[in-house]
Amino acid sequence: MNALTVLAVALAATPHPVPRAAAPMVVLVATARGDVRILVRSDPVAGPVVAAPTLLGAVGGRGAVEGAWAEIEIARQSFRLLIGGPYYSLGSGLKPLVGTASVRRDTLFLPIQFITHVLPAELKERFRYDAQAGRLDDLTIIRVAAATPNRAAPNRTSPPARQPEPASTAPSDPDLLPNGLRKGHVVTIDPGHGGVDPGNPGIFFPRGLKEKDVTLQVGLLVRQELLKRGVGVTMTRTTDTLINLYDRGAYCTDRCGLFVSLHVNSLKKRPGYSKVRGFETYYLDVARTEDAARVAQMENEAVRFEAEDGQSAGLGGLDFILKDLQTNEYLRESVRLAELMQSHVGEVHPGPDKGVKPARLIVLGTARRPAILFEMGFSTNPEDAKLMTESRSQRNLAASIADAVVSYLLEYQQRVGSVVQSSSGRGRE
Ligand SMILES: [Zn+2]
Repeated sequence: MNALTVLAVALAATPHPVPRAAAPMVVLVATARGDVRILVRSDPVAGPVVAAPTLLGAVGGRGAVEGAWAEIEIARQSFRLLIGGPYYSLGSGLKPLVGTASVRRDTLFLPIQFITHVLPAELKERFRYDAQAGRLDDLTIIRVAAATPNRAAPNRTSPPARQPEPASTAPSDPDLLPNGLRKGHVVTIDPGHGGVDPGNPGIFFPRGLKEKDVTLQVGLLVRQELLKRGVGVTMTRTTDTLINLYDRGAYCTDRCGLFVSLHVNSLKKRPGYSKVRGFETYYLDVARTEDAARVAQMENEAVRFEAEDGQSAGLGGLDFILKDLQTNEYLRESVRLAELMQSHVGEVHPGPDKGVKPARLIVLGTARRPAILFEMGFSTNPEDAKLMTESRSQRNLAASIADAVVSYLLEYQQRVGSVVQSSSGRGRE
């Protein structure tokens, strides 16, 4: 079948046209385990999408990517969505979608229509979507709950009580912000370097800006963007001062949800060095590549600007932490945070996306929370340098970093809210 035939078949089999409506920002999924709020992301290519693991975790399904298809199993029904193409199938025949399934940084995303139209149409007995409320209800759960009090009365007359007003099962939570976040999240933003430690010299930065200036500019914008999204922020610095590497993590204590250190990458002069650009995110573990080791060495070098007390300087303490980390849930959490960072920044940064990498970074060693170091781009590349210093792209960058933080916190809330489920040992899909 060529592409046109596929299209013709798909169009011929159009049982329910899928309208192009404004997508909600958050979809609430009401399940037996309670309510799960799913952030709707705007993908420049795929359109409005939701992370498949989050949806499947909420409704109790499983998913996998098989070649060009996303295989989704919910309620023992197997859906297939073409990755990058606006079609799905259930049983035989292709049916059209508005958006497309997509994979970003190892995470499968489904078009929002999968929730708003496909599930309610294909699994009528199970799901109903309320467009006004932006809410997907699991009807089986509501029906069981609604049927229980009727047990005494003979109920031959009305089999499916399809009018269960779900409001009773899920009173709207006054502690939730419109974006689904609980109130009271606080995170730590760490603009790298400062004071006597300029960071890298910023060869292509204008006006003599150095790494320490750019990390502070973007860091302050990230704070603004996070506050707008209802997330509290602790900054390790808001001025041109030097904070010791070993002290930075200490800003992320009891109430802190996560730690993000902001940096600018650079290469030593060598043939073609200025062509290298892109963004990458590090978490604390033993570096596996020469390039990651280079970044660790570069970012750890700040210790030479710090007061010599002979104890904290050096990597000795880090080995101890690394051992501890092997059994530490924060390692896995940090990787997830790093993945979300790459995925969100990828929406505004031309890249390339250089990925998520481990490295022995001192600054990440003392945060007792998920912690990442984000290299926003290369100051040794003219385009990256421009991106990191022009106010408009700086703001876009900051907004995407804030979005990544919000996405992570939403996932975290969901996990904490469904601890029972996570002990089933199925792992992330
Ligand atoms: Zn740096």
